[in-house]
Amino acid sequence: MQKKTTKNKHNTKYIIITGGVISGIGKGIVTASLGRIMKSMNFNTTAIKIDPYINIDAGTLRPTEHGEVFVTEDGGEIDQDFGHYERFLCDNSLKEHNITTGKVYRRVITKERNGDFIGKTVQVIPHITDEIKKQIKEISNKKNSQITLIEIGGIVGDYENIIFLEAMRQLSREEDIVFIHVSYVPVPEKLGEPKTKPTQQSVRLLMEIGIQPDFIVCRSVKKLDCIRKQKISLFCNVLEENIIDDPDLETIYELPLIFEEQEFSKKILNKLKLNETVKDLNDWKNKVKILKKANKEIKIGIVGKYLNTGNSELKDSYISVAEAIKHAGIPFNTKINIKWIDSNKLSTSIHNSHFPKKLLGIIVPGGFGTTGIDGKIKTIEYCRKNNIPFLGICLGLQLSVIEFARNVCNLRNANSTEINKNTEYPVIDILSEQKNIKEKGGTMRLGSNPALLKSGTKIYELYKKFGLLNTDNIVYERHRHRYEINSKYHDILQNKGLTFSGISPNKKLIEFIEITDHKFFVATQAHPEFKSNLLQPTPLFYGFVESCLN
Ligand code: GLN
Repeated sequence: MQKKTTKNKHNTKYIIITGGVISGIGKGIVTASLGRIMKSMNFNTTAIKIDPYINIDAGTLRPTEHGEVFVTEDGGEIDQDFGHYERFLCDNSLKEHNITTGKVYRRVITKERNGDFIGKTVQVIPHITDEIKKQIKEISNKKNSQITLIEIGGIVGDYENIIFLEAMRQLSREEDIVFIHVSYVPVPEKLGEPKTKPTQQSVRLLMEIGIQPDFIVCRSVKKLDCIRKQKISLFCNVLEENIIDDPDLETIYELPLIFEEQEFSKKILNKLKLNETVKDLNDWKNKVKILKKANKEIKIGIVGKYLNTGNSELKDSYISVAEAIKHAGIPFNTKINIKWIDSNKLSTSIHNSHFPKKLLGIIVPGGFGTTGIDGKIKTIEYCRKNNIPFLGICLGLQLSVIEFARNVCNLRNANSTEINKNTEYPVIDILSEQKNIKEKGGTMRLGSNPALLKSGTKIYELYKKFGLLNTDNIVYERHRHRYEINSKYHDILQNKGLTFSGISPNKKLIEFIEITDHKFFVATQAHPEFKSNLLQPTPLFYGFVESCLN
């Protein structure tokens, strides 16, 4: 074995996941599923995602460009695949688990400026590749990881990720490693048969870089037959039993079970020289069963503003909200169908007949900027007046305060200074600590923050039911915002009947609100959707579903 660049303190084994043919075929779900299986055998498992873009993190990316920005406990704004990792592994990631080209180069350039390379020419190989391996090993050491999964963003053949693939090739000379290539096997409609050529070619590209995959995971509409598997096996130099099916599924949460039918983890552990231990996937199996065949079905609406790219619809911008609502249906044996409503297209004169009748509740999720606001506010007014369950998240809370100020407190045209700088009644205003910040990246109020809940409120009861209140009635949720309810209006809003159910412990910021005289009108400045996973839904989503069913 090659001399190690950085110490591997816990004898971590590595599983590298690469992609082929097209992007967006669910490499993240494959990674998350393997993580679930490994965790169910009690292996200390960590997931790392490499994004080959120059951005330092995903914080400055538009949701319609790269999907949702996921927020970690420690305030990282990272790739949405981490949402899948957390929802499957039921474990928290740290911001450094997302490695980008920008982060790697920044570290190397800083070292160069510090003179750390003592006169050497600083080069892509070995300095950038060493830095990549170093970051991976540091994370694994910090997390005492027995198994580290590393997903390489993009597909083989992209210019951008080639240096990361090279670093993985080098890593395989130092450590025990398994390479898994997730490829796409199309079934062209007119031909009606699965075509393996794109997979053969993407594996050839991988081999040119010096990586021979141990497994090929084949994304396709159906499981592949023996003929195709033999073909892929022969051309790609991979054992036939190591060609793993990854067919279209009703729910992504089923994938770990499909993998286990094929003894995928056993084969991986063999290669890594690890012993298989007792696996407990029973709870997971039961939840998947409900997702596939629930006793009841209901429809709720999500009024978003990031729903279109070009001519296609995009729901990835709100993926954590969509998943959190699915999780919350499970305890009620209920499948939740989502009607996506584009607030940019909602008329400002909504009245009852405009509103889809069968929707039992409405969620207004987070967002930024000035577009699509009026439709959201009208929707909130409609929910408030018609006693329709409503859950507002971050921007959703801010807009429900604006609606309440305008229509209940008679503050005409009340607004947020994010939407109208010169509004007469700035009921939502920029956080004081954010006022003088000019930079864009990582400058919001980010990550896990405490809130003190008011006993007797709906929100208090929900968190209590979930055992999430500590002895001082404090709960923690993740945040990502620059604006807040303006303290000058706290009294007016409260006097008119808006309940502040949760505030920051220093009493300055309002974290949760509700209207008591309503079936369920609840909003939070936080993003509880980021902490929901298949095994444990989150209180506010649970309460929302419960009220939709009543
Ligand atoms: N744009 C609002 C703010 O910055 C809301 C943010 C959000 O919804 N995440 O405070």
